[in-house]
Amino acid sequence: MDEYQDLINLLNEKRFHAEFFEDVVSAKQRVMELIADADSIGIGGSQTIKESGLFDEVVATGKTIYSQTLERKKENPDNMAVWRSAMGADVYLTSTNALTREGDLINIDGNGNRVAAMFFGPDKVVVLCGTNKISKGPHDAIARIKKSACPKNAKRLGLSTPCATEGVCRNCDSPERMCKVTVRIQYPPKGKEIHILLVNDALGF
Ligand code: SF4
Repeated sequence: MDEYQDLINLLNEKRFHAEFFEDVVSAKQRVMELIADADSIGIGGSQTIKESGLFDEVVATGKTIYSQTLERKKENPDNMAVWRSAMGADVYLTSTNALTREGDLINIDGNGNRVAAMFFGPDKVVVLCGTNKISKGPHDAIARIKKSACPKNAKRLGLSTPCATEGVCRNCDSPERMCKVTVRIQYPPKGKEIHILLVNDALGF
């Protein structure tokens, strides 16, 4: 914990609601407390949320869930509709591509729906983040995302971008380019309650 105390303190000084957890089980319990009063929850595409089992646990609550993962299972999925609905949910649940030692959340998005929900969607946002996502500053964060997260995500999605086919970012001009919107949240916007649950484990990528 000592290693991360300064970061937790800094985030709280910046008016985020940051907490540290030694394991993902206790962090997930805290998520369930934070969403207890919510009727509807938007969930951003996130390996952290999925791999931790949190996605299934939140769906099992029976609350109204707005998620592209669920929408894809429908016969006629309407991604835009679910993205717009998630913006109006009571809570938005997501991870972050990176968390900097300067106390910023850095995210790169293809469609922009996830990052928009983080800074302009539901009043309450819950971010589950493993310590593997910590970077020194915004430039290191973007480099880490391009090196670690993008190739894995691109392969998972079956894209034909250089990060998928060669494993490296070529700052491509591909129509399938994932990196269209880059957002740095330095402070919670007015009226926004952003919880950052930092877990002492490697979660997602
Ligand atoms: S810019 Fe293109 S090659 Fe680079 S990470 Fe994004 S999608 Fe991949």
